[in-house]
Amino acid sequence: MSTLDKVLNKREAETTRITVLGLLINIALVIIKLGSGFLGNSRALIADAMHSFSDLGTDIITLIGVKWGSKPADEDHHYGHQKIESLAQFLMGLFLVATAIGIGFSAGKAIYFHEVNHPGLIAIFAAALSVVSKEVLYRYTIKVGDRWKSQTIIANAWHHRSDSFSSIAVLLGVGAAYFIPSLGILDAYASILVSFLILKIGMNTMISGFKETVDTAPSRKVVMHLHKIVADFPGVTDHHNVKIRPLGSSLCLTLHICVKDKLTVEAGHEISVELKEKIMRSIPSIIDVLIHVEPHSSCSKGNCFYKSSMGNIYK
Ligand SMILES: [Zn+2]
Ligand SMILES: [Zn+2]
Ligand SMILES: [Zn+2]
Ligand SMILES: [Zn+2]
Repeated sequence: MSTLDKVLNKREAETTRITVLGLLINIALVIIKLGSGFLGNSRALIADAMHSFSDLGTDIITLIGVKWGSKPADEDHHYGHQKIESLAQFLMGLFLVATAIGIGFSAGKAIYFHEVNHPGLIAIFAAALSVVSKEVLYRYTIKVGDRWKSQTIIANAWHHRSDSFSSIAVLLGVGAAYFIPSLGILDAYASILVSFLILKIGMNTMISGFKETVDTAPSRKVVMHLHKIVADFPGVTDHHNVKIRPLGSSLCLTLHICVKDKLTVEAGHEISVELKEKIMRSIPSIIDVLIHVEPHSSCSKGNCFYKSSMGNIYK
């Protein structure tokens, strides 16, 4: 095994370990907060437990998505299995939105009819435990993310910190309600705050899952970058019919290129293979490219990239 392989293995082992640790802590927090929320009579803590549950769901979908989605294409799924991940993401988002509405509605009702809860001490302990464990997890995760320069891990770390802030809001609401019984309604207000957080996470999850499911094209920036790579490629006289679609969190691409009329089939194919490699190197999220090669004379029927207004940018 080369030194580079060893380093890469260590990177994967450490980033996987921190992801699994985050997942285990989320499982523990869901159980502890849900139990203490019911026993300790706190809406805010139950809402925060659902927030941890949403984090857990995202972790699990990511792990399953990586495992299941990376299953190769087979007889009945010619494009692979990544769409399953997108669909699961959409359903998870839908579930979270429904949960957030449920929690928000119940808390709103409590405030309107002034149904005051009197949370027990156990709810305070559970909220404090949540704050501390998420803050510790943040510090540990950000260290691993910085060491291996992993954007995913760094994003995860910041999510842990935002979880810890959400639990601080719960701790304040529950604490005030416990120590000053006349402020008991603050528990419901903290619960509304958390329900907005869950709503936001749910909407984002739902929208990104939906966009992937219905093949929404990537941003214009990515498309223009691609056009430039193809237009500048030696041997390609023009191109058209560029189609990009998401596959899980990756992208698939088909396009037509035009080459000189008298080129041999072999030479034309050679250009397409080199162009494919160049595209996949330049835009790493593109994992598959299908290129159709045609002679320039049959190609220039007015739909080519250079003849369109977009093409003028590079003239
Ligand atoms: Zn299959
Ligand atoms: Zn969260
Ligand atoms: Zn064509
Ligand atoms: Zn080929």
